Amino acid sequence: MPHETTTPILIVGAGPVGLALAGDLGWRGVDCLLIEESDGSIYQPRMDLVGIRTMEFCRRWGLVGAVEASPYPRDLPQDNVYVTSLAGWELGRERMATLDAAKPPPESPQRRERCPQNMFDPILRVFASAQKSVTLRYRTRLISFTQDAAGVTAEVEDASGPRERIRAQYLVGCDGGRSLVRETLGIGMVGTAALTYTTNVIFRCPGLVALHDKGRAYRFIILGPAGTWSTIVAINGTDQWRFSIIGGNEPREYSTGEIHALIRRAVGRDFDYEILTVMPWVRRELVAERYGEGRVYMAGDAVHMLSPTGAFGMNTGIQDAVDLSWKLAAVLQGFGGPHLLASYDAERRPIGHRNVREAAANFRRMTSPRPGPLILDPSAEGDAFRQKLGAEFSEIMRHEWFTLGVHLGYRYVDSPICWPDGTEPPPDEPNRYVPSACPGCRAPHVWLAHGRSTLDLFGKTFALLGFGAEASDVDALTAAARRRGVPLTFTAIDHAEAAALYRRKLVLVRPDGHVAWRGDRAPDDALAVIDRIRGAAQL
Ligand SMILES: Cc1cc2nc3c(=O)[nH]c(=O)nc-3n(C[C@H](O)[C@H](O)[C@H](O)COP(=O)(O)OP(=O)(O)OC[C@H]3O[C@@H](n4cnc5c(N)ncnc54)[C@H](O)[C@@H]3O)c2cc1C
Repeated sequence: MPHETTTPILIVGAGPVGLALAGDLGWRGVDCLLIEESDGSIYQPRMDLVGIRTMEFCRRWGLVGAVEASPYPRDLPQDNVYVTSLAGWELGRERMATLDAAKPPPESPQRRERCPQNMFDPILRVFASAQKSVTLRYRTRLISFTQDAAGVTAEVEDASGPRERIRAQYLVGCDGGRSLVRETLGIGMVGTAALTYTTNVIFRCPGLVALHDKGRAYRFIILGPAGTWSTIVAINGTDQWRFSIIGGNEPREYSTGEIHALIRRAVGRDFDYEILTVMPWVRRELVAERYGEGRVYMAGDAVHMLSPTGAFGMNTGIQDAVDLSWKLAAVLQGFGGPHLLASYDAERRPIGHRNVREAAANFRRMTSPRPGPLILDPSAEGDAFRQKLGAEFSEIMRHEWFTLGVHLGYRYVDSPICWPDGTEPPPDEPNRYVPSACPGCRAPHVWLAHGRSTLDLFGKTFALLGFGAEASDVDALTAAARRRGVPLTFTAIDHAEAAALYRRKLVLVRPDGHVAWRGDRAPDDALAVIDRIRGAAQL
């Protein structure tokens, strides 16, 4: 009989999403156990853009300083440069500020950051392990699990020893694209299984910048007669580069000789460098049919697999984690109703589809040009062609670089746990974000006194904001919350800009920072509202 451990929540997978989930649960004081089959080392960092919403979560977790202090060079221009090769013609360029110079936009207290996975995962790991109620176990693999009405029984294997049984009330699979959790539940994925078979090559070349005239930049996108065929990205800003051979929709293996020839073609000359790793991967456009079943939920790449064009993958997964975390906490702490956890799928799966679709559209835009031989023609005609192509391509690519709408504009307007007020939020546009406190939307940011953002009022409890509301209306809502054991903090805000943006005298914000309800007076039946937003009312 194997040894049995018990935990309220077993999380499988310590990628960024599992770590964020464990950290957020711990931050809420909820016990959980996170298991990870590897030792946590990252051999080929994938993500490097920490989106603005993720940075807002880092703000609440106290991690902004750690992200800003990561070794990624803050003086590296974040330009995207479109070229025929690094030493060849420059077709166009989107100039983007260095991390040091970039300012938060007016809509957020934070700005997006560049912090590659080999730097960001360790920050999340330190955060998660600093929480007293979180246990992290590396080199521990989920083998199988079964569930019944009361919980989940998982069999896990420690690299150093015997198998062990873990009994949990809930299991969350953050186990990535090859998710055993999803496979065991028999949940399929919908969409396109292979957009491209791409090969990433990390190479070391300390002197690369001196080999061409384009200067220091974050990313080069390389176009040839047949179209966009590769990219080179600065991994650490000094000596390591990620070369991506985009590939097509048929599997393709490259010999070492071919990889060398393609790197030289992309750089546009012969030079010395060292290949560190080669990682073939498949670009997908997939979303799971369901985000869980029974007492088992999934988050991150386990339920959505996106093209990296747009950098939405991890950021979408961390939003999943934040949505699921407060709901699990609410249920375990007793104030979450029987329908609360079902709202996770209802809220997050449509966002998975939205972001997967936008990422694939970015990919199609990036690979849309079919220049033909004129792109490499040294004549005046070739010059004119390159200029026109560069201008058109620069315009197309702005869709991918400026995506505040994707990161901040996601909303849960049809959620079973939000109370609609008859208003419509602004249109959901990828490149434009219009702040709105319409129920279901992210409660907007406004700077209050002393460097505090409205966002700093959200997180551990429900937050009731009052903009000149009557005391009796506030009391009706706080009393109803108290009767149902729902933790709620009231803050009176005397701030004209915030009042104009929130548009009602009372706005009730959920722990994840989305508006649950708003009105100028207390609702006629305050208990009904509280029961809806805590998932106790069957719709
Ligand atoms: C080239 C590239 C660039 C990208 N850039 C960005 C970007 O800039 N921004 C962005 O947001 N996203 C980006 N992404 C996507 C991002 O990397 C992923 O979305 C993100 O890593 C997913 O995190 P995750 O925690 O869900 O899964 P993973 O990172 O895949 O982690 C899953 C973990 O589960 C563990 N595991 C699996 N099975 C088991 C088991 N049975 N038992 C125990 N442990 C298990 C694995 O070892 C792994 O550590 C990029 C992707 C690529 C390919």
